[in-house]
Amino acid sequence: SSREEWKVIDRYLTEALDIGDVEMEAVRRRSAEEGLPSIEVAPNQGKLLQLYAQMCGAENILEIGTLGGYSTLWMAGALPADGRLVTLEADAHHAATARSHFQRAGLDHLIELREGPALDTLPDLENDTFDFIFIDADKENTPSYFEWALRLSQKGTVIVCDNVVRRGAVADAKRESAGNTGIRRFFELAAEDPRVSATAFQTVGEKGHDGMAVMVVTEDTP
Ligand code: SAM
Repeated sequence: SSREEWKVIDRYLTEALDIGDVEMEAVRRRSAEEGLPSIEVAPNQGKLLQLYAQMCGAENILEIGTLGGYSTLWMAGALPADGRLVTLEADAHHAATARSHFQRAGLDHLIELREGPALDTLPDLENDTFDFIFIDADKENTPSYFEWALRLSQKGTVIVCDNVVRRGAVADAKRESAGNTGIRRFFELAAEDPRVSATAFQTVGEKGHDGMAVMVVTEDTP
């Protein structure tokens, strides 16, 4: 089957389960109007992130890679009234667009956007711990983001990483790129780390052929 068919089925699933609403669609539309690339998660994936966060009872969430704040808003929907979500974004225009979306959604009191390259802003979070961490920024730095995620975790923290299949390129040594190398190194780090239990799966849908890694931290990470 083709990407066109995957798109039709994604639309069917999203409508059948009544996932998302006009407000969330407006976030995607305004991001596109602002010239942001359409590389946010699909609605059914945004809902999956929200469900994961709910399943682990997340009160503190960290996101690396905000874009227009679409996935951020999905995850914020899982937070209790006194919860907190920190999201990191390098691009000033993406950050400004996301901030306007958080305000419109009335969730800006729960969401803290830290602007700048994530490797510069992560050290400021050194003394924080998070229950749920979503890694979705520049793929070549995924190994470093994973190491940071572990430092900012505790036993039970769930870490999700997006775009780990990359149309199959991840498993094809002939299709070299910094992103593919980054994702492979990230898998190696996860596999050899005794403090996490991990899986990864492929997805097809309106975003094409890709995949996510999901893992749980099984020990406290000092
Ligand atoms: N999580 C978003 C969603 O699903 O709605 C999509 C994030 S998009 C795939 C990746 C984002 O990471 C882009 O907005 C990009 O500007 C940002 N980014 C790229 N390099 C970065 C870096 N070094 N630090 C922080 N953010 C970065």
